[in-house]
Amino acid sequence: MWFALTGTPGTGKTAVAETLRERGWLVIDLNKIVKDNKFSLGRDKARDTIVVDLDKVCRFLEKEFGAIKDLVLEGHWSHNLQVERAIVLRCDPRTLERRLKQRHYRKTKVQENVEAELVDVILVESVEALGVRCVSEIDTTRKGIRATADAVERVLNGDFNNYNVGCVDWSGQLLKGKRPYR
Ligand code: ADP
Ligand code: MN
Repeated sequence: MWFALTGTPGTGKTAVAETLRERGWLVIDLNKIVKDNKFSLGRDKARDTIVVDLDKVCRFLEKEFGAIKDLVLEGHWSHNLQVERAIVLRCDPRTLERRLKQRHYRKTKVQENVEAELVDVILVESVEALGVRCVSEIDTTRKGIRATADAVERVLNGDFNNYNVGCVDWSGQLLKGKRPYR
């Protein structure tokens, strides 16, 4: 089965991908494929990101890996590719903020990603693309990279009954400081 390993930047996709490779999984670094093959349509200056030509990436993957049965595609837009299931890495927005600051992301970029994590942007996109039964979400906040990789591997090995959509919920943080119902 082809899996997407997705999640907001900073949730640990690349770190987990490396661990999965060490354990024998074929994990494709989508950002590298875009860079190596110039599959970008240009820069989105306002958002400080690259716009990816998804059609070209899809065709490339089919050509290069079409014969391969088990594959993990790693990247924060991997859920928009020809995968059967998505594994969404999650991280408490407060911890994510710390991780992104340590990475020296620009202030606006930290804020954009923290907010995206808070309101489940990648999760919702994944559910829209694949359906709720084909998405798993894993909270990485207190796990560390190896334990996160263990959880991801459980899903890769066919555990589709745990890590269901809804098992992670940051909505309690949305009303922090406001408490309109008290
Ligand atoms: P992504 O590829 O999703 O943007 P990275 O794998 O690059 O995220 O991780 C972002 C930062 O957070 C790195 O410094 C990494 O070492 C750290 N990190 C990743 N996963 C975890 C984790 N489960 N626990 C603590 N720190 C982590
Ligand atoms: Mn990454």
